Amino acid sequence: SVNTVITAEQIAAGKVAHDLDREHVFHSWQAQGPFDPMTIIKAEGSWIWDGEGNKLLDLSSQLVNTNIGHQHPKVVAAIQAQAADICTIAPQYVNNARSEAARLIAELTPGDLNRIFFTNGGADANEHAIRMARVHTGRHKVLSAYRSYHGGTHLAVNVTGDPRRVASDNASDGVVHFFPAYPYRSYFNSTTEAEETERALRHLEDTIVLEGPSNIAALILESIPGSCGIYVPPTGYMEGVRQLTRKYGIVFIADEVMAGFGRAGKWFAVNHWNVTPDLLTFAKGVNSGYVPLGGVAISDAIFETFRERVYPGGLTYSGHPLASAAVVATINAMKDEGMVENAARLGADIIGPALEELKAKHPSVGDVRGTGCFWAVELVTNRETREPMAPYGGSSPAMAAVTAALKSGGVLPFVNFNRVHVVPPLNISDEDLRAGLAVLDEALTVADGFVDA
Ligand code: PLP
Repeated sequence: SVNTVITAEQIAAGKVAHDLDREHVFHSWQAQGPFDPMTIIKAEGSWIWDGEGNKLLDLSSQLVNTNIGHQHPKVVAAIQAQAADICTIAPQYVNNARSEAARLIAELTPGDLNRIFFTNGGADANEHAIRMARVHTGRHKVLSAYRSYHGGTHLAVNVTGDPRRVASDNASDGVVHFFPAYPYRSYFNSTTEAEETERALRHLEDTIVLEGPSNIAALILESIPGSCGIYVPPTGYMEGVRQLTRKYGIVFIADEVMAGFGRAGKWFAVNHWNVTPDLLTFAKGVNSGYVPLGGVAISDAIFETFRERVYPGGLTYSGHPLASAAVVATINAMKDEGMVENAARLGADIIGPALEELKAKHPSVGDVRGTGCFWAVELVTNRETREPMAPYGGSSPAMAAVTAALKSGGVLPFVNFNRVHVVPPLNISDEDLRAGLAVLDEALTVADGFVDA
């Protein structure tokens, strides 16, 4: 663990920043008036320091993106070196950092995903993946799952299947939603995983047939849905989705923006099932968000469509040198330090067993699930009825109390509706992780107080 003294000057500067923020900064996904954001005045490894100088263990990895933790020295140095060399170039020119980043990513992605189109983040990666699929197939419709998140831009928020879509922009643009496999809250009254896989795939095939396969360009699916609940697909589901999309000539886009780059204990979550999508989108963990970057990994067949034909899209900052240098240094650091293997170990040896124990101990825990450093704890007021501790799309006094208990125990948590996600950096120390899980144990005692008598 890290020990740092925060100075009075840092705290004073943080207070000035907070005042300026409230005067001039317009924040994501917030009613601006009541919002009182936390100030972060320092970040290092798995730790951040708030505006009062309190040290908190970052079990959220910010927005599940700092897979290598904060301020990794090799990545900071690589960004500094690139800045001293070339800060920026236009997308049509070749740059060392971009070429090497593309090579490293193409080498890691499964199958024949050999070409990389770079974007500024995850939403625009999904926008471009869908555009590629539409041009490639000459079809328009897009299938996507309820309980999903694909980004905040127009089409990305429309393929999203959570309340952010409804609140933000509900124009369909050819998007059709289907129910995903979600064993804990099965839409198909399944009682086993095998039943869930079989029924969810039958529902998906019916949806394809009823919508007309000849109209469907793409199916976009998070390999493991992240912010909507880290519900790992049951055995056979992803293979089945791959088969159905192949059968009907639909481009399969795996959204690995959150699940990718080691988060799920493998380089990509699709590696858990040996599934190769036609397009794979990424962002976040690719360079831990040190400089914004996302992208699309493209199969040979889709690349061929654009060998002679102009791709109708682009960005000023596609493969930005600072962001690309951060990619190269991040991937190399992850390899050198065995971070993906470590994520798998932390999930199998520490997080998974600890969460199972918490489930046995706390009546407020309905379900625990995950893999690698990618876990959800779903809280309920009644284990029999599985009544969520906060309504879908909302919060509750119970969840607010759980969040407060985590923070006062020294943990920066990721909380969404009735869930607490355990999503630490992949290189968190065993000791810090165990200490964070002990704070979660205490917070769940608070949650138990809200369980139906
Ligand atoms: N897709 C998934 C699965 C995500 O989790 C996110 C962000 O949380 C996005 C896409 C959007 O990425 P960005 O916020 O970089 O646009």
